[in-house]
Amino acid sequence: MTELTTPYYLIDKSKLLANMQKIAYLRQRSGAKALLALKCFATWGVFDVMRDYMDGTTSSSLYEVKLGHRKFGGETHAYSVAYSDAEITEVVANADKIIFNSISQLTRFADQARDIQRGLRVNPRVSTSDFILADPARPHSRLGEWDIEKIRDVMPLINGFMFHNNCENGDFDRFDQMLKHIEREFGELLYQVDWVSLGGGIHFTGADYPLDQFADRLKQFAEQYGVQLYLEPGEAAITLSTSLEVTVLDTLYNGKNLAIVDSSIEAHMLDLLIYRQTAKLLPNSGEHQYMVCGKSCLAGDIFGEYRFPQPLKIGDRLSFCDAAGYTMVKKNWFNGVNMPSIASKELNGEIKLIKQFNFDDYVDSLS
Ligand SMILES: *Cc1c(COP(=O)(O)O)cnc(C)c1O
Repeated sequence: MTELTTPYYLIDKSKLLANMQKIAYLRQRSGAKALLALKCFATWGVFDVMRDYMDGTTSSSLYEVKLGHRKFGGETHAYSVAYSDAEITEVVANADKIIFNSISQLTRFADQARDIQRGLRVNPRVSTSDFILADPARPHSRLGEWDIEKIRDVMPLINGFMFHNNCENGDFDRFDQMLKHIEREFGELLYQVDWVSLGGGIHFTGADYPLDQFADRLKQFAEQYGVQLYLEPGEAAITLSTSLEVTVLDTLYNGKNLAIVDSSIEAHMLDLLIYRQTAKLLPNSGEHQYMVCGKSCLAGDIFGEYRFPQPLKIGDRLSFCDAAGYTMVKKNWFNGVNMPSIASKELNGEIKLIKQFNFDDYVDSLS
């Protein structure tokens, strides 16, 4: 392999492991199972660190369910907003459970999915999302069924439910309110199923999260309804494990100090741009303030404004933190900017190049 040059995502396995250990503790104390949500993080090169601490994966498409089945193993859940006739056979062949988004999809494919367990996504019509774009409970949401009369009619076709209405929720009391709402609205049906997935979006690996209280609440819920609980952590599984390493290519002054780096927020941290957030760069202190910008020609390709102890100069290395979730799965070839390599920091401190992209990959992504 060639030498590791910026830009690259650096996955710190010891930090990843710290999250995994919390997940393992939660599973053991609560009895809930934990499935990695591949839509957030699908870097299979580090699945060996995660596999022993989680039960498997959950997916949003045919390709994700295949990836989860082949590269992670364990229990594989299939979910998609809508499956096509052409893909359903292969989805079923790669999954232990399939969760349909609508009653229409369920009735259409129930027979083809008769040999695996089937579930239905239920939309409790409240969520913790601060962004309308990501709010599963937004007005006229297509994400799941909510009419209890209609759901009651299809109970013979399913033995589980999936609810996903927590979004970036680091507040246990708020989680508890969401769960109580689900119990009030759908309690009668919860007694009739074997398993319930509570989706993702619960930030239970955060430093101050009351993990024991959370575990005990899950356990109590599972015992009350007689169900196997599932969690589908994406962000919580990989939070704070990864950085995006970049190099300053140029500096300018234009009323503000600007630094241009060899990466692009639009191409490499797209989620932040979509939600109008800035990348995290620490310690962010010192006399000199710079607006750090990407190298694409998008005028608003800006990572953020940060403070530094010294003036920045060409060749300086910067490290954006918390760069694992919704980054590598969303990176793109905009402007033909080369994709960051993917590297890992092994438990012994050694840095290992996992994947590098080149001109041929760019060409192959187009035609
Ligand atoms: C997005 C999503 C997840 C993962 O969410 P995180 O916020 O990354 O934990 C899990 N389940 C479903 C159904 C989702 O849509």
